[in-house]
Amino acid sequence: MEYDHILIRFGEITTKGRNRNLFINKLSNNIGRKLTEYKQLKIEKTRDRIYIKLNGERHEGIVDILKNIIGIQSFSLALKVDSDIEKIKDGVLTAIQQLEHDGKSFKISARRSDKTFPLDTNQLNYELGSHILKNVQGIDVNVHTPDINIRVEVRKEATYITFKDEVGLGGLPVGSSGKAVLMLSGGLDSPVAGFLAMKRGLTIEAVHFHSPPYTSERARQKVIDLAQQLTEFSGTIKLHIVPFTEIQTTIQRQIPENYTLISTRRMMLRITDEIRRRRNALAIVTGESLGQVASQTLESMHVINNVTNTPIIRPLVTVDKFDIINVAKKINTHDISIRPFEDCCTIFTPASPKTRPKLDKVTYYESYTDFESLIEKAVDETEILTLDLSKKKEIEELF
Ligand code: ATP
Ligand code: MG
Repeated sequence: MEYDHILIRFGEITTKGRNRNLFINKLSNNIGRKLTEYKQLKIEKTRDRIYIKLNGERHEGIVDILKNIIGIQSFSLALKVDSDIEKIKDGVLTAIQQLEHDGKSFKISARRSDKTFPLDTNQLNYELGSHILKNVQGIDVNVHTPDINIRVEVRKEATYITFKDEVGLGGLPVGSSGKAVLMLSGGLDSPVAGFLAMKRGLTIEAVHFHSPPYTSERARQKVIDLAQQLTEFSGTIKLHIVPFTEIQTTIQRQIPENYTLISTRRMMLRITDEIRRRRNALAIVTGESLGQVASQTLESMHVINNVTNTPIIRPLVTVDKFDIINVAKKINTHDISIRPFEDCCTIFTPASPKTRPKLDKVTYYESYTDFESLIEKAVDETEILTLDLSKKKEIEELF
């Protein structure tokens, strides 16, 4: 007998009532899409679990993939046996024999959702525990801090024996909360913001502002690589690359130097909002974190935000830089973000940008220029790339 199933537990999905199935279907589809190369697998959904039937596929690669699927709280390798006490005894024995058990302690944690099963949980724990003690050498019981915890879940249709829980990412399945547009720079913050937004169930399309020749091809590639890395969690991502040079140089010419940064942000937000509208998304996600830099004081945010009523989601607004860096490392965007190529803002940042800009001043300065038509032109000329997980794999295989 070998592991023949993977049992997947939900986190927050379990708090959902009548629409729970929508979330489960999303998660199950997301799992299916990431595991397409394992042809023999079968995914079974129930109200509180998803089971993957391995049908002979090796579990190692699958376990690594499941660790990166949003919406999975935890999962375990499992043996499925008939709900019959003799079969369950065989099962727990097999389970323990597949683990390094010499000199270790163990515990059986039985649960019985089928209340008609002839043994209750105490009897099950006792019966199965003594079966192991009788048949396995060098192992002891420890009910408080066991090395090995074997969970036995007796259900009507079958009994699942699991050992070794793996922790998942948690969150809500990508796509269950609708679509938003992520402002993706080459920095550390915005990819993390995108990841956290996806963890709340959002599908993301990314928007990046590029100002050639002031920003290099490599800066552009860096953002493509970041978006590509985010497909690890979303499957696909559309990346909108906005030609921003004309607007930036116009701002440099028309706006007083200490207001150029604020005005640039306002134009970025207007463009992003127009792309959002065209793509039928309902919110904008940014990597802003309160107080981090001049454009992120409360006064600046207020003046920048004034160009739109669209909800702006700022997952990092209260998060410390160190915590952001830790997430960036966990999701493998950190090493891409720290490549030294400058993005469009760093290059045009004035020596002393206003940290307390005034709304009436900036709107007055902007009123001398027809930014509206420049914005429309930039949106029309935006290049759209579609990135997906399979391309990521191809690239990785090349290196
Ligand atoms: P990041 O690390 O994400 O670049 P940051 O700390 O450098 O953030 P800013 O440069 O002030 O902060 O940018 C704030 C937010 O504005 C970014 O998190 C991102 O969402 C958006 N943004 C900045 N530059 C760009 C760009 N070139 N393209 C798209 N979005 C951008
Ligand atoms: Mg930045």
